[in-house]
Amino acid sequence: MYEFNGKSVFGGIAIGTVKVLAKNKSLVKRLHIEDSENEIRRYHEAGLQAKEELQQLYEKALKEVGETNAAIFEIHQMMLEDDDYNDSVENIITGQSVNAEYAVATTGENFAQMFLDMDDDYMRGRAADVKDISERLIRILSGESSGGSESGEAAIILAVDLAPSETVQLDKDKVLSFVTLQGSTNSHTAILARTMGIPALVSTDIGEMDITSLDGKKAVVDGTNGKFYVEPEPDVLEELQARQAKETEVKELYETLKGKENVTLDGKKIMLYANIGNIKDLAHVMKNDAGGIGLFRSEFIYLEKQDYPTEEEQFQIYKTVAQTMAGKRVIIRTLDIGADKQCDYFHMDREENPAMGVRAIRICLTRPEIFKTQLRALLRASVYGKIAIMYPMITGLKEIARIKELVKEVQGELDTEGVPYGTPEQGIMIETPAAVMISDLLAKEVDFFSIGTNDLTQYTLAIDRQNEKLDDFYDSHHPAVLRMIQMVVDNAHAAGIWAGICGELGADLSLTRDFLAMGVDELSVSPAKILPIRKIILETNVEEYAKLKEESGS
Ligand code: PEP
Ligand code: MG
Repeated sequence: MYEFNGKSVFGGIAIGTVKVLAKNKSLVKRLHIEDSENEIRRYHEAGLQAKEELQQLYEKALKEVGETNAAIFEIHQMMLEDDDYNDSVENIITGQSVNAEYAVATTGENFAQMFLDMDDDYMRGRAADVKDISERLIRILSGESSGGSESGEAAIILAVDLAPSETVQLDKDKVLSFVTLQGSTNSHTAILARTMGIPALVSTDIGEMDITSLDGKKAVVDGTNGKFYVEPEPDVLEELQARQAKETEVKELYETLKGKENVTLDGKKIMLYANIGNIKDLAHVMKNDAGGIGLFRSEFIYLEKQDYPTEEEQFQIYKTVAQTMAGKRVIIRTLDIGADKQCDYFHMDREENPAMGVRAIRICLTRPEIFKTQLRALLRASVYGKIAIMYPMITGLKEIARIKELVKEVQGELDTEGVPYGTPEQGIMIETPAAVMISDLLAKEVDFFSIGTNDLTQYTLAIDRQNEKLDDFYDSHHPAVLRMIQMVVDNAHAAGIWAGICGELGADLSLTRDFLAMGVDELSVSPAKILPIRKIILETNVEEYAKLKEESGS
């Protein structure tokens, strides 16, 4: 039995088979090979299989997303026939007597860099394609299946790291749990695992071991205690199975809370909404009886694609969400690309400090054509339900003024074209200390506030939320953060608007009663946390709790 430690991002127990996602470059080893000819033959065979896979993907995409979007898989097939690429791989194999995987990885990196150095935007965009086909070839050469677990049973996914864009593309029904070697508990990949409600660990310490050797082995993830057991001893397995059965009992208890109002013993009501990143998450939202959607991270629509989603594509998604939620509030956050959420086709310059760089509303305001496409889709879709628009990373009144101008422009265009649209509520995320400090002024300009504690903690404590080495310093219970929440709530109420929390702290059960006492109006959390929070709300007398707190001076 192997026993590894990781950092928990979601509790619970998963028992199943390990599926290694070994597409990370760091796993490509440089091996000395005597028989170069055989290695070149392996490379060509992998090329043929890659073409076949791409043809199948093309046909699937043609049916599902149309010709324009499917064309990318044709382009990839053509790239596999590129003489320069093939010559480079073969030269590295023969010249350096190395394995095909290493030759492909090196060629892929060199070519991607070459494209990135070009001035032309289109050519720079090809860097992502080269990386993609190189990764496909490496996967085939190393005998891996094509990501996730496309066939067979759901599995425990083991990877060096997962980018948010990779995570969203996994077939969620086939994932029992995530275990990654790297990654911070505050990253978007961790947030996605929470949205899926599955046990997950990051920064798992498996030492020098080659993770591919664990592929196919029986394993257990204990998300609650940050443990990953491979080939567990019978007594360990038995104990964890017993705990899993207990967890099922607790889940059954939560089931009985469905349909109940979120009202405290002394009559205080709170809105309990769900965070989603994808239309597929709607099933979790319904299953967990959310009162609405408090944060739809719309950037995941962009991350799943190879090119900008069109107005029509976005409109269909927003309309579906609005219709499915049938009159319940659906807060859609506008594009929050940047930092760890990178889309190659945005061609963003490399930044020294991306968390403080060109991200979120800053991209939208400097590239209004992208923003206006999204606004058009949102305004149009709001005819079909109770959509609210939320703007991320706000720091000041100027941004709000500019947003309002752009919304007006879009409304004018829709009027001229005779296209129907609704009048959604418009709110902002409070996730910068600047927004907190002027929340009295901002509150007069918008319909609601939603506090993004993930970024607010990052910017308040000056701690990069992506840096796993700082996880222990990333203290979202810090009094500075809690005082800021109180300040925002008070300023919101003074201006007659509501204030909620949509960052991960909102789902922290140890703070639910404090948030009630602070007067927080809404909590938006991963769907699996809704019923546990409802249980606390139903059992709390806010007045009494606030009094006790005051008396104890905490
Ligand atoms: C936040 O910052 O708290 C938030 C909800 O947004 P994201 O985690 O997507 O940055
Ligand atoms: Mg944020």
